[in-house]
Amino acid sequence: MSNKSFPLSKEQVQEIAKKYPTPFHIYDEHAIRENIRRLKAAFAWAPEFREHFAVKATPNPRIIEILKEEGAGTDCSSIAELYLSEAAGVTGEKIMLTSNDTPADEFRKAVELGAIINLDDITHVEYLEKHAGMPSCLSFRYNPGNLIEGNDIIGKPVEAKYGLTKNQLFEAYAMAQAKGVKRFGLHTMVISNELRTEGFIYTATLMFRLATELKERLGIHLEFVNLGGGIGIPYLPEQEPVDLDAVGKGIHQAYEESLGPAGLTDIAIAMESGRAMTGPAGWLVSTVLHEKHTYKNYIGLDSCMANLMRPALYGAYHHITVLGKEDAPCDHVYDVTGSLCENNDKFAIDRRLPKIDIGDLLVLHDTGAHGHAMGFNYNGKLRSAELLLCENGSIELIRRAETLDDYFATLKFPGSRMKG
Ligand SMILES: *Cc1c(COP(=O)(O)O)cnc(C)c1O
Repeated sequence: MSNKSFPLSKEQVQEIAKKYPTPFHIYDEHAIRENIRRLKAAFAWAPEFREHFAVKATPNPRIIEILKEEGAGTDCSSIAELYLSEAAGVTGEKIMLTSNDTPADEFRKAVELGAIINLDDITHVEYLEKHAGMPSCLSFRYNPGNLIEGNDIIGKPVEAKYGLTKNQLFEAYAMAQAKGVKRFGLHTMVISNELRTEGFIYTATLMFRLATELKERLGIHLEFVNLGGGIGIPYLPEQEPVDLDAVGKGIHQAYEESLGPAGLTDIAIAMESGRAMTGPAGWLVSTVLHEKHTYKNYIGLDSCMANLMRPALYGAYHHITVLGKEDAPCDHVYDVTGSLCENNDKFAIDRRLPKIDIGDLLVLHDTGAHGHAMGFNYNGKLRSAELLLCENGSIELIRRAETLDDYFATLKFPGSRMKG
């Protein structure tokens, strides 16, 4: 069982909402720090462990800064994320650019920042050289094809658009060597939101074997093996969190077994965890606007799928707490909806909850990763503020809510009809 807790009382949230009206996402600084410390502890055996926080999970420089204080770098997959990383003070090889279908300006910015570049395709070697020049440390993303099974977010590796085949991988390293690159890493990311220990160990084993093959065939002594992200979180109350210590121990064993005989036990372990760092440390707080009874019972919130896409996009479960009714019996069944003109704009369907009243504050759990980040403006919906519950108990606004002016800012209005 995972404990679906929320660090604030109803009274505290009411106080916060006077200054920062709902809806908003709120992140718990202490919980984020604890999450990365647990990850680092699981890999304390490694000669070096690097966490490149996957910025796309929570693209906010304040969050990147907190993780940086804990030793993390960033994993960027767009030019905007490179700028956010730079703004948070994360530069050089603390950045790993793992993007795909990459435009030239993004490669240029990454090279300018001194980032490690992780190429998604063999053709990108020449594209990178032509448009940005070669970085001093290059990595390739391996796609193991049908050697491994995925789950329903990333799908089967053979069908995933990412990475190079094994044959291409060897050819690509040789090409880069011929172009004078001397420092290399290896990357893969094949699992997503995975809770079971075995998947991580299996992937690591595959990668360590590949590292020894690279040494044998091309004389490449890798500087790091990056196992990607994909550490899941227990969205459902009955799920268990990933046993990070078991993952760390299993990977350590695979590391010694595969890399030991090849004399490669100085290779650093890298990860690009996003979800597991910030996901459980964030909540979407929303107020009940309407209650509607037709063929079903609906609770309408002041937020919508623009604030949290995952239920509509993946049918994902997000636990809901009604503040002040934590101990009340869940003897009502509701669809909890947003206001977007899309019938799948539902945060929960047929959810057993306590009796809900208009004005109640609802907390949607585990929204710290891929929550606000996935927001969009369809239907003219505006994205919410992001708040930080600091370790000293204070509340910091780390992103203001969008306004209609933001929404209209890119439009060219005819004449002066929309002045003022
Ligand atoms: C999304 C992503 C991650 C982070 O995945 P999580 O599931 O959030 O840990 C890491 N690396 C790459 C390349 C990604 O696309």
